[in-house]
Amino acid sequence: MVRIKATSSGICLRSPMHEVSIMESAVQMAVDAAKSAGASRVLALRLRVGTLSGTVPEALRFAFDVVCRDTIAEGASLEMESVPAAGWCPVCRVEFACADFISECPRCHNPNGELRRGRELEIASVEIN
Ligand SMILES: [Zn+2]
Repeated sequence: MVRIKATSSGICLRSPMHEVSIMESAVQMAVDAAKSAGASRVLALRLRVGTLSGTVPEALRFAFDVVCRDTIAEGASLEMESVPAAGWCPVCRVEFACADFISECPRCHNPNGELRRGRELEIASVEIN
C-alpha cells in the first residue's frame, strides 16, 4: 500500500460546483495518481472539509459512491476530516472560532478579521495499492 501525500497546502477543489462535480474531480485525481504510480486500486481517499466549504458531507459521501462505480476506486473508503472555521485578528494577534463568514474579533470587535480556516475542500491523501 502506498499513500500519496497531497502538498502541504492540499489540492484545492473549491469552486462553485455541485458535490457530484467536486467528487468527480477528486476521484479522477485519485485514479490518475494511482495509475501514474502503477497501482491497480484506489483504497481510500481522505478529504479535508471546512465547515464553511459550502458542501454537505452526506452529499459528498453519496456522490463519492456514485462516481467511484466502474472505476479502480470502486469500493474505496472515503474519510472526511472536518475543519472548523477560524478567524485571525491582526490587532490582538489571536485566533478565534467563527460560526460563519463574519470574522469579527471577539476581543476588540475589529470587523476585519481574516478567515484563516474553514473554506477548505482538499484532498489530504490517497491510498492506493
Ligand atoms: Zn482583536
